[in-house]
This record gives sequence, C-alpha cells and structure tokens, in this order.
Amino acid sequence: MKSNGVNTRCVHAGGYRDKISLAINTPIYASTAHIYPNEADELRYPRYHNLPTMTAVARKIAMLENAEEGLVFGSGMAAITTVLFAFMKKGDHAVFQSGLYGGTQSFVMHEMGQYGFEVDIIDSTNVEDYNKAIKDNTVLVYIESPTNPLMSIMDLAAVAKMARERSILSVIDNTFATPVNQSPIDLGIDVAVHSGTKYLNGHSDVNCGAVVTSKKLMVPIYDCFTHLGAVLDVHACYQLERGLKTLGLRVARQNENGMRIAKYLDGNDRVKQVYYPGLESHAGHEIAARQMRGFGGMLSFELDSDKAGAKRFEQALKLITPAISLGGVETILTFPCETSHAKLSKEERKRQGITDSLIRLSVGIEDISDLQDDLEQAIKAI
Ligand SMILES: *Cc1c(COP(=O)(O)O)cnc(C)c1O
Repeated sequence: MKSNGVNTRCVHAGGYRDKISLAINTPIYASTAHIYPNEADELRYPRYHNLPTMTAVARKIAMLENAEEGLVFGSGMAAITTVLFAFMKKGDHAVFQSGLYGGTQSFVMHEMGQYGFEVDIIDSTNVEDYNKAIKDNTVLVYIESPTNPLMSIMDLAAVAKMARERSILSVIDNTFATPVNQSPIDLGIDVAVHSGTKYLNGHSDVNCGAVVTSKKLMVPIYDCFTHLGAVLDVHACYQLERGLKTLGLRVARQNENGMRIAKYLDGNDRVKQVYYPGLESHAGHEIAARQMRGFGGMLSFELDSDKAGAKRFEQALKLITPAISLGGVETILTFPCETSHAKLSKEERKRQGITDSLIRLSVGIEDISDLQDDLEQAIKAI
C-alpha cells in the first residue's frame, strides 16, 4: 500500500479485519494470556508487541513513513530512550543537536553519562559541524527538524549522507513534521522516532510513541523494547489508530492555518519576529521547502512588548488556550521559558534565543477567521 496516497494510507494501511466479528475496525484484543501451542507457533503477549491491535497501528505508522517496520510505545520518551539504549553500549559516543525536545535534552545531559555513554551536543544546523564531532567510538547522530520552539531546520539528506559515509546511524525525531509533511526514511535517515501523543494521535488524549526503521535495525530496538517494557496498552493502540485515520486531513488544515497565521503575525506591526519555516525570512526556509511537503502547524513569535505585555496578550485570548503539549485539533499556546525550557538557566535560554516573551503556538484545525479574530483582539490588549 506504499504507493497509495497519504490519506488512503491513513485510513486503510495496516488495518486488521477480524474474520469472526466482520468489524471494519481493528478489534481491541484485551488479553494478556493466549493459547499455546498455536498454529502460528507464536508466544503471544502484549509486551512482545504481537497482538493484532498493536501490530495494526504500528504497521499503519510504518507505511505512512515508508519504512519497513514500526513499533508503538507507551510514550515518545519511551521510544527515544529505547532507541538510544538499543544502539549504545558503555564507552560509545553519540552526537546530538542542541535545542532538542526538553525531555530528550535532559536525558542526554543528565542521565546518559551515568550509563557510560559519551555525548556531544552541537549548537548548529550546519552538517559539517556534526561531521567534525564524530570520533572513533561514535555510533549515532540524533537530530530534530523543525525544532522547538524556533523551528530550526536541519538538512536531512545531508545528515543521512554524512552518517552513511562515517558508518554511523542517523536518528530523527519527526514529531513536529509528521509523516504527512516529511519522510526522513526516503531521505536516507535510518531511524525516525515520534511522540505519538502529538500529531499522530492528534486529539490530546493519548500518551504514546513510535519508532520506524528497517527490518534489520528493528531487531536490536525490538529486543531492547521487550526488556524495557514500554508497551502501549491495546485500548490506547485502538485510539491511536482511530486518530491516525484523519492525520492527513488534520495536518493539511494545520499547514494551511499555520501559514495563514504566520503571515498574519508577520504583517502585524505589534509583532517583532515570527519563527515559521514557511516564511521566506526564516533561516531554514530554503531547506524546509526542499524536504517538507508542508510547513506544519507549529510557530513561535515575539510581540513588540515586554513579558507583561505578552501576558496581557495571553490573558485577553478567548479561543486560544494556554496549555502544555501540541499537535492536537485545538490551537494552544505556551511560553517556552515557562514550559519546555523552564529547566534551563535564563542565560542559557537567552543564548538559544528563547526570551521571556517568546510565545509558541500549536495551530489547530479551527476556522482561520476565528483564530485571526482572537489574535487580533488580544494584540489590541497588549
Ligand atoms: C512531546 C515530545 C516528545 C516526548 O513525547 P512524550 O509522548 O511526551 O513522551 C519528544 N519529542 C518531541 C519533539 C515532542 O514534542
């Protein structure tokens, strides 16, 4: 089904039809105990990720990402940490991009050393800087694109090529772009991870994660997964599969709304700066235009005001809600200095370009006129 369009794959790929119920939806098989021996000669158990409710949704995500195999997890962080544990052993070195998702950054900076893993964090979007950081014991390079909250863009094909040439693995967190907007595997990246909590599920009601890769690379990831045990419950697997059916529609709308809001804010004289890869003024625009099919629903902006003014703006909003997380159908807002980047020092935040008045929007699927009206009346309240 790889050759089908993205919306067709969202609806049909991976779906499991039960011959007894004749249901068109994948059934929720809520059993931890399964008969053995059986015809398939398989020991079925949820933590082995071999119940049809799980494999159906994992298959759907793999087919959306044009990958050979997929695995679903109890959270995005479970997917990320399992991949790192699968490929790294004591004394190995890995190269990470700076400005990754806060939980990943915190794991890399504060925990990986405890396991004897060596890390380097590269504050650059230039692939050559990553190449320079590779040592004899380097096993992988790990990136995100676009990043949170300034939407920095990495050249995926260039990272993949460099990793191949240096015989290391390339891993990307594809949460922000989604498989609708960006196909890392097609660009040569070895492993893509997701916080399914965000766009994949898309309704702000399931904590989950996913990994997609080749058959060969899935072997160590799967082994590690069965040991660490970050399994996604079958009920949540069902919800995730249901959410995925509208991923293409949701993201198409979010691309459209994201672009409209970015342009609206960019043209407003009370707005100092907008960070959105769809704007030509964005540093990563050219690469993003080459490797993405849409620019997504995530953007950040700086009002021409101080923190108090930004807070007045926030409080004046009627529709757009301050809330943690992203990628749902509703438009929500955060101050990265209070949320994703709260644990960094003020100096470190400033160095990364994250001011106290920077606002991040996760644009939903509402009517654009309502979103614009809300922004407009709140900007007047600054
Ligand atoms: C939310 C998020 C994660 C972590 O996912 P959880 O599902 O919360 O564990 C990882 N990466 C990115 C880019 C995220 O936005």
